[in-house]
Amino acid sequence: MGLQQKHAFSRRQFCFCCMTGATFATAGAWLAPREAYAEARGLVTLIKDSAASSPVTLYKLRGNVTVLEGSGGNIAVLPGPEGKLLVDAGISASRPQITKALSELSVEPITNLINTHWHFDHASGNDWMHSAGAKIIAHENTRKHLSEIQRVEDWDYNFLPSPAGAIPSEVISGNRTLKLNGASIELKPYKPAHTDGDLSVTFGEADILHAGDTYWNGIYPFIDYSTGGSIDGMISASDVNLAAATNNTIIIPGHGNPVSNKAELKDFRDMLVDIRDRVAALKKAGRTQQETVAAKPTVAHDAKWGQFVIDPAFFTKLVYEGV
Ligand SMILES: [Zn+2]
Repeated sequence: MGLQQKHAFSRRQFCFCCMTGATFATAGAWLAPREAYAEARGLVTLIKDSAASSPVTLYKLRGNVTVLEGSGGNIAVLPGPEGKLLVDAGISASRPQITKALSELSVEPITNLINTHWHFDHASGNDWMHSAGAKIIAHENTRKHLSEIQRVEDWDYNFLPSPAGAIPSEVISGNRTLKLNGASIELKPYKPAHTDGDLSVTFGEADILHAGDTYWNGIYPFIDYSTGGSIDGMISASDVNLAAATNNTIIIPGHGNPVSNKAELKDFRDMLVDIRDRVAALKKAGRTQQETVAAKPTVAHDAKWGQFVIDPAFFTKLVYEGV
């Protein structure tokens, strides 16, 4: 394992979404795409192994809401007499650490699980959480993607259908409010952004917004064009998130430091807009993808956002795909 890769695996934000970026980082330069993809496929096993041994950390927020970090995407938890509600299920290999962290909060079982979208690092824990008693709620497109063979072109990877227990039993296509443990929990589908099945989850009384992978705090995001994501969709979702938040709102990103706020979210949105505009201008001027990457349109942002596994070159490529 190279230095860069070791770094990626030791970082708390490590996630499945980032495989190709990790591969580029490992190569340190320019692997031919086919070589990079071949290596990426081998990383699936490494990611599972990594999740199996990574610690899961608890951050108590307010209104009895806690966030767990360390198993793929950030997981929000609301315990209470009606059982625990979880937002996202993490990577299945970290079941022992998640179980231990949850038992530190309270004794109740998981009764409700909401998936913010279908990706492995947010939904591969579905099966065990369902077997432990959870009803799974998601966007109808998330159920579709979890039910079928799903190809992600940017990873050159085919995901197999999930086992029956992992498939959401309740789907939503519009806004829905749940009442649980004395809290109002609002589920809202985004228009296609990171995928075509993204949901936000708001804990009303606590004023906490879980934005799923429409928001990556302090790091360049992955965008899944294979299932409907796009750079413009990510920007629109950021505007929706900003409109839903006040300066007091705690915002939980899909990845990155799990306790965030409106000012940091605004920085993320402004970064996306600036890079989108720069990449679009280069593409319009006739530059190829490779020439656009070589022109370094992200350079003003790289010190802050490019230090994780979606590196500047890979993020430029993702933006180029959508402009
Ligand atoms: Zn994702």
